[in-house]
Amino acid sequence: MKKMGLIGGMSWESSLEYYRIINESVKSKLGGCHSANCLLYSFDFHEIEELQHKGEWEKLKNLMVNEVENLKRAGAEFIVICTNTMHLMAPDIEDNTGLKVVHIADATSDEIIKRNVKKVLLLGTKFTMEGSFYRERLEKNGIEVVIPSELDRQIIHDIIYDELILGILRPESKQSYIDIINKAIGEHVTGVVLGCTEIPLLINDNDVAIEVFNTTEIHSRAAVDFAISN
Ligand code: GLU
Repeated sequence: MKKMGLIGGMSWESSLEYYRIINESVKSKLGGCHSANCLLYSFDFHEIEELQHKGEWEKLKNLMVNEVENLKRAGAEFIVICTNTMHLMAPDIEDNTGLKVVHIADATSDEIIKRNVKKVLLLGTKFTMEGSFYRERLEKNGIEVVIPSELDRQIIHDIIYDELILGILRPESKQSYIDIINKAIGEHVTGVVLGCTEIPLLINDNDVAIEVFNTTEIHSRAAVDFAISN
C-alpha cells in the first residue's frame, strides 16, 4: 500500500471524515487489521480562510507547495488535498513537487459517469462555483455543469464559512440548501455535486430526489483505490 500524504485542516471537520472513510475503506478492501498508511498535515484554517478572502492565491499556493514538500520528505508517495477549493493549485503542486495529486474533480467525474448522470448542479465555495478550475475538469469529461444564481451562491458560501467549518449544523441552513437544489431540478439537473467537503455534514441523498455526489466520500475512496493499486 502506497503512503498517502493528506493536506487537511480545511476544515478539520471534514478532515475527520476523510480519516474515517479512508480507514474504513482500507479495512473493507484489505480486511483483518489493515488500516491506512498515511501522513496528515493539518493547516490552521484561520490563516487559510483570511488569505482566500483577500485573494492571496499566490501565497496560498506557496504554503501548499511547502507543506507538500514536507510530506514528501516524510515519505508521502502521493497527495490527497482534503478540500475542493484548494484543488485550484493542484497542478502547481504536481509541477513543483513531482508528486501525483489524486484530483477530487476527476474522482467525482468518474462517479458521475458511472451513475449515468449528464447534467449536475455544482455547490461549493464561491471560489469553486465561480472559478473554472473545477467545473472545466467535469466538463472535459462530458458533464454539463450549472451553478446557482448569484444570490444563492452567496447563501451557500456564507453557510460554509460561518457555520459548517465551525461544526454548526442548522436546520434552516439545511432547508436553504434543499430549496436551492430543488430549484435546479426544474432545469433538468439530475445530480448535485456537494463540491465542498463540509456540505455532506448537512445534506445527504435522503434529502433530495436527485443523485447526490458526496465529494468527501468519493475522493477518500479514490485515494484508497490509488494507494492499493500497483
Ligand atoms: N472544505 C471546503 C471545500 O471543499 C472549503 C474550505 C476551503 O476553502 O478549503 O472547498
